[in-house]
Amino acid sequence: MFDSLKKKFSGDGDEPVGTTTKPDISREKSAALYEKAKTYFPGGVNSPVRAFKSVYGTPLFIEKGDGSAIWDADGNQFIDFCGSWGPLILGHNHPKVREKVMEVMQNGTSFGAPTALENELAELIVKNNKFIQKLRFVSSGTEAVMSAIRLARGYTKRDKILKFEGCYHGHTDALLVKAGSGLVTFGETSSAGVPKSFADETIVVALNDKAAVEEAFAEFKDQIAAVIIEPIPANNGLLLQEKEYLQFLRDICTKNGTLLFFDEVISGFRVGFEGAAGYYQVKPDIITYGKIIGGGLPVGCYGSSAEIMGNVSPDGPVYQGGTLSGNPVAMAAGIAQLTELLRSGFYKDLNKKTEEFTDAIQRFATARNYTFKVFTIGSIFWFAFTNKESIRRADEVDAASMDKFKKLHRELLNRGVYFGPSGYEVGFISSAHTKIDLEKAKRAIFESLEVVFNGK
Ligand SMILES: *Cc1c(COP(=O)(O)O)cnc(C)c1O
Repeated sequence: MFDSLKKKFSGDGDEPVGTTTKPDISREKSAALYEKAKTYFPGGVNSPVRAFKSVYGTPLFIEKGDGSAIWDADGNQFIDFCGSWGPLILGHNHPKVREKVMEVMQNGTSFGAPTALENELAELIVKNNKFIQKLRFVSSGTEAVMSAIRLARGYTKRDKILKFEGCYHGHTDALLVKAGSGLVTFGETSSAGVPKSFADETIVVALNDKAAVEEAFAEFKDQIAAVIIEPIPANNGLLLQEKEYLQFLRDICTKNGTLLFFDEVISGFRVGFEGAAGYYQVKPDIITYGKIIGGGLPVGCYGSSAEIMGNVSPDGPVYQGGTLSGNPVAMAAGIAQLTELLRSGFYKDLNKKTEEFTDAIQRFATARNYTFKVFTIGSIFWFAFTNKESIRRADEVDAASMDKFKKLHRELLNRGVYFGPSGYEVGFISSAHTKIDLEKAKRAIFESLEVVFNGK
């Protein structure tokens, strides 16, 4: 590989060294594509995390995926644990999804008029999910959250939203807000371009802190439209909450006439068909889905009781629409994927496979006294460089430990294993990961951990 690039790949001279460090994979073609992409897109990407800013090297440009594997432009093959950030619970290019999409595409791609496919996907969801009576399809998770926030405000006739530090809900203005100082604070915007006045409508508190929520309800009595939470926070590491805490939120919302809003864009159809609501048996008032629901195509959805959804236009006064909402090709992918998920034993097998994988990794690290813990639920897992038994709040994640992830990421790529390019991101197992894939991946992870901890 050319030297100038190689230098760039190695970050700030902070190189893992030692006898078992593998040579870097070739990224010549990816690097050339990236150079070109930078002339077209800010940072060379269409979503910031893809730019590999917190790991070594330039981003890999992916050419194809099949089952658990992806191939980049240089022909490197990887076992993929990113799964397009969660949607691909059946793996890449699943034949059932592909065939259904191709079948539906024969008839055209979009009509801007209702199709039977929307009914079909909605029926799969509503019949198998006791938490939703009516829903609306949109085209992304962000759009689902944005629409549902408007619905919550329209329905309750209140303006304020309470969110939690460490939960991500897409890039809608009202939620690009982070905690200020103090137990209960108005948010501070976490992106330029978000008006201060918008952030003033969002209250931000720490996760797993009942007192903060109680104080917020006392201070903003009858003003909070919704409490929004990722019931399985998986965008800032995996900050697993206790059922009892989610039930506390349920109760305090009920008492105050506030809607409990579960953002299940990751957890929906992931930890079970009914998502986190089903997993914990805590009933939210409003739910959003995304990612898995579209089978790898752009679909989001928000849903609730028939009564609350009755407030959405044209039945009610809360406006929300979309040119490509309920797009037939996207619906087709969703139908094919959710149909597979409903097969008996699907989640049991997937979750068991994940547990065996993560248990083995934890045993390896524990036996060597590594400061390393695997947090996991369903088929989601997160590698944390910590000795803590649990991490439930964003401020418990050690930012300095991300340096170790950066090294791990590089070692894993060099051993044919692809993780999302940030230590704050979780990994996903799909039904396409075979026993052999997971054995290979484990070996790569063991070797890479040795390099990270022993530099050899
Ligand atoms: C990914 C995600 C979103 C945003 O979905 P997009 O499709 O990226 O807009 C919202 N909420 C959660 C919990 C997510 O994980």
